[in-house]
Amino acid sequence: MRAHVRLERLCYHAAMRDEAGLERETAKPQGKKRVLLLLSAHTYRGGAFLEAAESLGLEVVRGVDVPEELAEQWRVPLGLEFDDLERSTEKVVEYARQRPLDAIISVDDSASLLAARASAALGLPHNSPQAALAARDKYEMRKLLAAGSVPVPQFMRYSLLQDPKVLASRVSYPCVVKPLRLSGSRGVIRADGPEEFATAFERLKRLLLSEGNVPDTTNVLVEEFIPGVEVALEGLLTNGDLQVLALFDKPDPLDGPYFEETLYVTPSRLPDVARAAIAACTSQAAEALGLCEGPVHAELRLNSKGPWIVEIAGRSIGGLCSTVLRFGAGVRLEELILRHAVDLEIEGLDRERKAAGVMMIPIPKAGLLTGVEGVEEAKAVPGIEGVEITARLRQPLVPLPEGASYLGFIFARADDPASAEKALRQAHSRLRFKIQAQIPILHTSRVEVSPVKQ
Ligand code: ADP
Ligand code: CA
Repeated sequence: MRAHVRLERLCYHAAMRDEAGLERETAKPQGKKRVLLLLSAHTYRGGAFLEAAESLGLEVVRGVDVPEELAEQWRVPLGLEFDDLERSTEKVVEYARQRPLDAIISVDDSASLLAARASAALGLPHNSPQAALAARDKYEMRKLLAAGSVPVPQFMRYSLLQDPKVLASRVSYPCVVKPLRLSGSRGVIRADGPEEFATAFERLKRLLLSEGNVPDTTNVLVEEFIPGVEVALEGLLTNGDLQVLALFDKPDPLDGPYFEETLYVTPSRLPDVARAAIAACTSQAAEALGLCEGPVHAELRLNSKGPWIVEIAGRSIGGLCSTVLRFGAGVRLEELILRHAVDLEIEGLDRERKAAGVMMIPIPKAGLLTGVEGVEEAKAVPGIEGVEITARLRQPLVPLPEGASYLGFIFARADDPASAEKALRQAHSRLRFKIQAQIPILHTSRVEVSPVKQ
């Protein structure tokens, strides 16, 4: 299925591009198109974008989130501090004056605001800056979605200063307690009654304080638990039109109390009518946030009342999950995004006919990772295309809800989604992780494991 939804919305596209684009073309020497890739220092996603850019013959400028002093030392071509928006925007504009840019791409959420601001300053098509703000604050996102009449659960924001025992009587159950600004399901906890709520609230509070937040200025979100199955939608927006690139089922139930993501399998096995409703809901959500250009990644839950948005952001899928996606004549997702960004021809947006799947390998227990066995056996399972262990040996492993990483990824390709899922499960069962138990200490969540990279 391919949903193609035309929407009337205010997009920051044609007018700006025509006016400023003309100027740009005359200033820029003919030849290679130039793209600024905004990368956080630890992103998983950089390699795939850099490779795709190279294969397209694009000139890539790497704008990396590092302090100014370090940028020179590390020989980063364009050192930017993503949180210092004003200064970073100025730096990008200054850079583009000397060497005009055809597109600015934020590889993950961390630079989406900078990408929007700098694109606006240079007259490049871009999403609304409020979409980038919403991607960083779950409460802002809920407010914008609700204002756009997008199906979202009931939600309330509470301060860490409030007494959870008092709040517990105001909440309806089951509910989900979550932080506003973390990712990878960190700190997201389901509670089925007042006691569980108070425990979850306190646990989230400890996590947030251990991350350096102060109670006076820190809030948490409490929302209705949405029952149902969960999917992830990967799409591409062109002047407000949503093209669904891939819809992933998440076949392992995500019912809590913690929400560890494991399996992603595409194409979805949901009926056509459900998939169409998911696409329409995503499109409506994109509109509500002011997302209109470039990649979009949405997570939804589906039940008898239809689809509900869990989250939506103007970026592509996180981690190494895009590895299994191929479009048209074998084009990768990152190439598609780059082609779209610099206006190169795209032959086909249809995903290949084969099914594909990824497993984000969950952390079975806390401890020190001392060894991994069975990787070759896992790779030998029919349908398995790769096994990447990303956790480092002798590093502490912290499971959810405090932890922030996976052990790695397994990739599969098969004739149908059920076979891809089976291959992933089989490969996973062949992996043996040696984890040395550690005496639990309160500050384990502060221990640096490789951070979740969205
Ligand atoms: P993060 O940004 O950390 O990924 P999310 O808001 O996406 O946080 O929540 C992580 C997961 O928790 C979701 O993928 C979903 O499985 C579950 N979840 C979050 N909110 C709800 C909810 N209101 N109802 C049911 N499940 C939820
Ligand atoms: Ca999420």
